[in-house]
Amino acid sequence: MSFQELSIRETVFNRGVSRRDFLKFCSVMAGALALPKSGAAWIEAALTAPKRVPVVWLELQDCAGCSEAFLRSNNPTAADIILDVLSVDYHETIMAAAGKQAEEAKAATIKAGGYILIVEGSISLGDNGVYCCVGGRSSEDLIREAASNAVAVVAVGNCAAFGGIPKAKPNPTQAVGVMDLITDKPVLNLPGCPLNPVNLTATVVHYLTFGALPEMDKLHRPLFAYGQLIHNNCERRGHFDAGEFVRTWGDAGHRAGWCLYQMGCKGPISSHNCSVVKYNDGTNWPIGAGHPCIGCSEPGFWDLPTYSPIQLNEFLPPATYPAVGEVKGTVTPEGAAVTAGAVGVVAGAALAFGYTVMTGRAKGVTPEVSQEEPSEEGHEHH
Ligand code: SF4
Repeated sequence: MSFQELSIRETVFNRGVSRRDFLKFCSVMAGALALPKSGAAWIEAALTAPKRVPVVWLELQDCAGCSEAFLRSNNPTAADIILDVLSVDYHETIMAAAGKQAEEAKAATIKAGGYILIVEGSISLGDNGVYCCVGGRSSEDLIREAASNAVAVVAVGNCAAFGGIPKAKPNPTQAVGVMDLITDKPVLNLPGCPLNPVNLTATVVHYLTFGALPEMDKLHRPLFAYGQLIHNNCERRGHFDAGEFVRTWGDAGHRAGWCLYQMGCKGPISSHNCSVVKYNDGTNWPIGAGHPCIGCSEPGFWDLPTYSPIQLNEFLPPATYPAVGEVKGTVTPEGAAVTAGAVGVVAGAALAFGYTVMTGRAKGVTPEVSQEEPSEEGHEHH
């Protein structure tokens, strides 16, 4: 039996993946896609049928970080499914072919149709596209041709989704994202810097299982991965609710894992599941490592000041979330002023302070914004 006739399940078994690991993969994907309990069985059935989806992966104005993130995935089934099982017919970084041979493989896939086009990097429109050419052809020319016969286009990373760092002011190359150019095909965005490989694998598995792209938000991001604010699932959220903020790099609050809002965290305005899925096979994520979220799943994040607090327009807790922790004491104007003055942005901190007040009010207690240096032993909340 040829490679093309084998099911994904048989292919991964042939590569030494055990049935137990395969079923675990199906369960992980069902969880990532927020499917009901029976979802793992649907995925298993879909991956048991002999079905192939060719992939063409274009790299345009990028740093190859999304390809690197995907290739560094330790989960063998992720790499198996995308790289071996799906038939990646063209990928400038990893394909064995080169030159004429590679271009012929891409042309044959485009001509046959029925493939998924994955795009990494932005498209340069400035000066007739001279800032990003492959084989003497502009990025716009390449993507228009590659998208022409695709069943769907998946933009991986913030550059392909929204223009990313090439589009940062003053955008010298007139960079744009995929959805700015391709309007006659389904386009799904997986922004992030880099993309989270789990979300690409889950998107492909969804396509194989249901024959369609997952449900998306208005920015073309799949709801399973971008349906929640990072802030809503952050391990430091309890400290935000309690008014416990890091105020200086390396202070006791930073060492104790307090909230990074006043250090510029963009988690309250960024939708992504990295607080749940994390990176490097669930090892850690930026906030877990003590750095504020930079908002890499949102358009224009490179133009936001990384270490300045954002203004919170919606600071009331969602009704579905329980109050966190027991807050006691009295709020003093001096205490609030110190909190605000610590970073020099009164508006943002005042809103955070207001949030704390509202949280306490909901519980019938008068809250306090703590000004004490926490002890490292007493505040290990995560
Ligand atoms: S502001 Fe940032 S660090 Fe603080 S709870 Fe929200 S997402 Fe987490």
